[in-house]
Amino acid sequence: MVIVTSLWLLAMVSGLCWARRYTAALSAVTALAFIATEAETLLAWTGWLQLAALGATPWLLAAQRLQDALTVRRLHDEEAARLAKLSEAARSLLSLQRSTDQMEAQISQITDLYHVTKETSRAMHVKELFAASLDIAPRLLSASGLRLIDLSGEEPRVLRAARGADGRMREEQADGPLDAERAIIQEALASAPQAAGGRTGPSGLAWAPLWREQHAVGVLVADGLPDDQIRTLTIVANQLSLQLARVTLYQRVESLAVTDALTGLFVRRHFMERSREELTRSKRHGLACSLLMVDLDHFKQKNDTYGHLVGDVVLRDVARLLAHNLREVDLIARYGGEELVLMLIETGPAQALPIAQRLAQLVAVHPIRAYDELLTQTVSMGLAAFPDHGDTLETLIERADQALYAAKQAGRNRVVVYSEKTQGV
Ligand code: GH3
Ligand code: MG
Ligand code: MG
Repeated sequence: MVIVTSLWLLAMVSGLCWARRYTAALSAVTALAFIATEAETLLAWTGWLQLAALGATPWLLAAQRLQDALTVRRLHDEEAARLAKLSEAARSLLSLQRSTDQMEAQISQITDLYHVTKETSRAMHVKELFAASLDIAPRLLSASGLRLIDLSGEEPRVLRAARGADGRMREEQADGPLDAERAIIQEALASAPQAAGGRTGPSGLAWAPLWREQHAVGVLVADGLPDDQIRTLTIVANQLSLQLARVTLYQRVESLAVTDALTGLFVRRHFMERSREELTRSKRHGLACSLLMVDLDHFKQKNDTYGHLVGDVVLRDVARLLAHNLREVDLIARYGGEELVLMLIETGPAQALPIAQRLAQLVAVHPIRAYDELLTQTVSMGLAAFPDHGDTLETLIERADQALYAAKQAGRNRVVVYSEKTQGV
């Protein structure tokens, strides 16, 4: 019986291990050993039951084991499918995150480009255009320096800026092109607009041309620009092309203009033409004429205290007051900034001095309403007359300017006539 039990246990173990051949062999051997050793028990039906139990139990165990294995495999497969789904979801989340980041970067670039346009659109001259772009372009380009080569004039002009320790771009001395810049200019002029993109030259400088009607009218150059920013350099250059076209047009219109937009007075160029004619006429007829340089006193202080808009109103009011109190024949113009120039026709210095003093007095007592402010303004004047103080327009202007300087030195709000004494003050 011990042998039968041992064989049966072995069959059970092999059934448990799903070793089908061993289970079959051991079950058969167990049954044979039982028949051989316990043959008499087979006379009763319990003996047959015992024999059936001995043969079947290892297979029952094996069947149980198989079912467990199948369940485990199913669970495994389900788990794997769930994991695959999860990793797919993670992948799409990641790619979504990546496109969101890309979109944010693009939006910020577009915003910066919008600012380039906005800031540069106020510029009236190329130098202002460059200065305005320096506030914005460094945000888009991590270059160590920027240069704008202006090719719209007769000679190329280079405006340069370098990044300081604080990360801001600062303008440097502008002058003619260096050798490396000359090479870039030649290449830009030779390149076709179809190949309008930026590129890096042999000198390691990245550059992109500014186009107008198929011609390169400028070049934007960047020092130490990473290769992946060349495209941005091209986009900034395109924006600057539009602004450069506008600035050039403005300058052309300005050169044709006769009156100054703010004061309504003649512009300097027109004054020079007209007063030169008057001087020639005076010479021909042996008549005198007087030239007055007028400058607003401490005007910067007004701007600083009340703002430029208020300053503009003050300047316009003073200009109008002077213009309304002159004769039709006299000339008055804005010489520059807050300086005006007058020519009193057929008027010698002896007559011109009281007229100028009266004008200065009129200005000083004139109340000026500028927005919410009620202000007053004084002016200083320098007087030089033909023929007493000079016989060319340039000399008269220079001497009136010296007299004006003397008026400022003497305490402002006054008129000084040019004399040898004021010369060289
Ligand atoms: P001074 O009595 O010595 O002439 O002093 P100032 O402050 O008038 O002289 P300064 O030349 O230092 O300043 C002139 C100021 O005039 C500086 C400039 O901002 C201002 N200015 C020039 N043109 C305009 C303009 O069109 N509008 C305004 N609001 N200000 C102007
Ligand atoms: Mg002044
Ligand atoms: Mg001045």
